[in-house]
Amino acid sequence: MTSTLPLGEDDVALELEAVCPPTSAIGRVSAAGDRAQVLLGKRVLVGPLDPCGECEVCRRGGAPVCPTARRRAFDADTRRITAGARWVVALDDGLALPSPAGAAVAGPVALAYTLYARTGIGPREPVVVVGSSPVARFLVEVLRAKGVSPATIADPTTPAADARAACRSAFDAEGLGGRPWRVIAVTEEAVALAAALAGPRATLTVTTPCGPLPGELAEREVTVIAVAGAHPDLVVEVAAMCVKGELDLAAGTASAPTPDHRAVVITA
Ligand SMILES: [Zn+2]
Repeated sequence: MTSTLPLGEDDVALELEAVCPPTSAIGRVSAAGDRAQVLLGKRVLVGPLDPCGECEVCRRGGAPVCPTARRRAFDADTRRITAGARWVVALDDGLALPSPAGAAVAGPVALAYTLYARTGIGPREPVVVVGSSPVARFLVEVLRAKGVSPATIADPTTPAADARAACRSAFDAEGLGGRPWRVIAVTEEAVALAAALAGPRATLTVTTPCGPLPGELAEREVTVIAVAGAHPDLVVEVAAMCVKGELDLAAGTASAPTPDHRAVVITA
């Protein structure tokens, strides 16, 4: 197939083999710019954006909110895209992910890992995951792989007092009582309950879409950490965890066959 797209010298053109709409895919490099020739023919993971990698926002770890990032959204029928060579992850050298499930790795799986990493969770910290979504499921797997047993409140309509009591007894049983909690809201619907669970000096991590945050968080000196998307630098780490079996991709994904192309649907 000949390329009709203009290709920058640091860009690659990908023929997609599997897509996880709207954020991520697996494809093969079918054309490469002058400085990206080393990727030609390789099977790669690709996510939703190409940050500039050079601005002060990127330099401070803010690639997902780089003001000049090139963004893209995939649908199940997307066959061909252009991406920055720096941000694709080659699936050779022991990173052979399965298809189509692997298409989720640069999207929801990497977002789950970014929530973990940005929250800065250490071992033996009391962590609460609030909400139910595929990202929540992958986040719980990431936490367990890192030796953290989170308390999970899947139903965001749970009364706060009940959720608090359940978490407290889980943490007391593990000898973690008394430490400020790390509370992570994985969906917009989970934010209100997660905010209510964040006590004095707790950390509350939210992702987009988020909605309004209650002002009472300031009265408890809660630190709010906002994660706008998966950090592309973390994709390679997440892919390695999947290959090692630390994250179970197959259990969280199902394929939706289309004529000569596969889209992956992730399940909560
Ligand atoms: Zn930037």
